[in-house]
Amino acid sequence: MSNVKKTILNSSGTDPNKILPMKYKWAREHYKKGVANNWTPEEVNMQKDLETWKNPNILSEDERRLIIWNMGFFSTAESLTANNIVLAIYRHITNPECRQYLLRQAYEEAVHTDTFIYCCDTLSIAPDEVYNMYMTIPSIKAKDDFVVDMTKSIFDVNFKTDSNENIQRFVHDLVCYYIFMEGIFFYAGFVMMLSFLRQNKMTGVGEQFQYILRDESVHLAFGADLVNTIIEENPEIWTAEFKAKITENIKRSVQLEYEYAKDCLPRGILGLNAEAIHEYIKYIADRRLERIHLPKVYNAKNPFEWMSEIADLKKEKNFFETRVTEYKQGGMLSWD
Ligand code: MN
Ligand code: FE
Repeated sequence: MSNVKKTILNSSGTDPNKILPMKYKWAREHYKKGVANNWTPEEVNMQKDLETWKNPNILSEDERRLIIWNMGFFSTAESLTANNIVLAIYRHITNPECRQYLLRQAYEEAVHTDTFIYCCDTLSIAPDEVYNMYMTIPSIKAKDDFVVDMTKSIFDVNFKTDSNENIQRFVHDLVCYYIFMEGIFFYAGFVMMLSFLRQNKMTGVGEQFQYILRDESVHLAFGADLVNTIIEENPEIWTAEFKAKITENIKRSVQLEYEYAKDCLPRGILGLNAEAIHEYIKYIADRRLERIHLPKVYNAKNPFEWMSEIADLKKEKNFFETRVTEYKQGGMLSWD
């Protein structure tokens, strides 16, 4: 019994609560990073944002639209991601160190949900305006529908990862959730909201997005490690056909994110336009493909070098170190 092999899926031969000895050290590392980055939305002062928001002469119509559109997408996307973890992913990932991380991630998604409650509250934005956008704005609905449609397998109560075919379906859904949703669909919004922060406008909301981006980059890193490990342990699922399907889906998600960017930004503002965001999304889509060992497809250049300081996984460590210092000083966050 003591020599039962610990595997990432279906490790039912081992006690699911037996976390030590630990096999997947990366899961532990992501957990530690999450804890080290602890924050709550109330730490960010929203007073200046409130004054800006209430004043009809500071923000343009287009700037207001951009903020409302992003709050509209993120406010409901955060609970969609939380549901995915708790109701679907957690059920199938039985490995205890991964589950420990999933519990942490679920908590962070709750903090993100709380962030949008806090933003609506402090700025007195009517909740109906923001929380119905996932149904009423076609470019937001298209993104949500895409994720819901592509994660159907793991929501099926009878679904089990008991065959190669089902493990492949599971990885398909995980890629959709971690790579497309958290790795692509959040990123046009991050660029837009962090551009506001850089221009010193609505800095409270901007900082909230900065904290969320930092959490999401760890979610994404965990998701990629999870996907890569399942494939390593089940190499027969990683067929040419399956790889082609994932690449096709990533192209669809890039297109949906571009449509969303055009909708948020019908005209260029803040040194941003939908075309530059499209280029950026293609650039990060290539990074996501490489992270799960697939060839890149776009060879796009990063038009927002300043984002890589914050978002590039390779700089994750510096990024965290910077933040921890800033946080201790209680100063404004700035990585420019
Ligand atoms: Mn989140
Ligand atoms: Fe997340």
